[in-house]
Amino acid sequence: MIISGIVKSSFVDYPGLISAVLFAPGCNYNCFYCHNRQLLSGPQEEISLDYIYKFLDSRRGLIDAVVITGGEPTLQKDLIPFLHKIKSLGFKLKLDTNGSKPNVVENILKENIVDYFAVDYKAPKSRYPSVAGCSITAEPVLKTINLLLESDTDFEARTTLFPGLSGEDIFQMAKEMPVLPRYVLNRYRKPENYLPGDLEKINSIPLSQSEISAIVKKIREYQPNICF
Ligand code: SF4
Repeated sequence: MIISGIVKSSFVDYPGLISAVLFAPGCNYNCFYCHNRQLLSGPQEEISLDYIYKFLDSRRGLIDAVVITGGEPTLQKDLIPFLHKIKSLGFKLKLDTNGSKPNVVENILKENIVDYFAVDYKAPKSRYPSVAGCSITAEPVLKTINLLLESDTDFEARTTLFPGLSGEDIFQMAKEMPVLPRYVLNRYRKPENYLPGDLEKINSIPLSQSEISAIVKKIREYQPNICF
């Protein structure tokens, strides 16, 4: 398992808990609005696992949880043993994923080691490859979401409201997904690093607060547990 970044204490990455956040490098998507672009092409820096385990051991009783994020953690072949090791230290575990590897999520669910998942649902089906910046479709992501629903494990799906995502897109996405226990709309923040060709998209104006509020009202019929 390769970890390239660590946030030692976070109040926002695990709902209701204080967590440490570990960043796994590499991703099979290339979202233009990615905030971790430095991690996409693989490890720039590798933090030793020994350091991470010692650090977490020293934080027992001070933090509640560990969040594994990326990049895309499910691309790493030794993710499951790593999750077991962290779990053995006594922390709650959250895994952030783009949902493209339902087989990996299914294997993790069999191990019953992750307490909370966050799955990105990035765009309506018709726009998925262009938004994800690769040939991926929405189908594996929907499969991941359905596996989580069937498993009874706590999870949320979430969508970043990037510039260019319309109210109609969000409405469509809300209908495409099964009813979720929690659906989070995340406000767009301009990333510091982006591809030069994406400058125009990055600087475009996202939906306003009032536009989002109107959409949220409209999609409650399909996603009653929406949070914004
Ligand atoms: S899935 Fe996440 S880590 Fe991967 S490119 Fe998109 S925003 Fe970045």
